Amino acid sequence: MALFKCSMCGFEKETRCKPKECPECKAKDSFTKVEVKAAEDAAEGKKTTKRCCKSKE
Ligand SMILES: [Zn+2]
Repeated sequence: MALFKCSMCGFEKETRCKPKECPECKAKDSFTKVEVKAAEDAAEGKKTTKRCCKSKE
């Protein structure tokens, strides 16, 4: 899975394929892939403890 973000309105969608059209602002081909380690951490976190923030280590 990858996270894509609309460069027009900031709408974020997690999907395997790049969205062709933004469901929020209807912009076409406005999505850019976001490299987020947080998403990977979340996937890893499912094995152990789910962390929603890093305020407490
Ligand atoms: Zn948008």
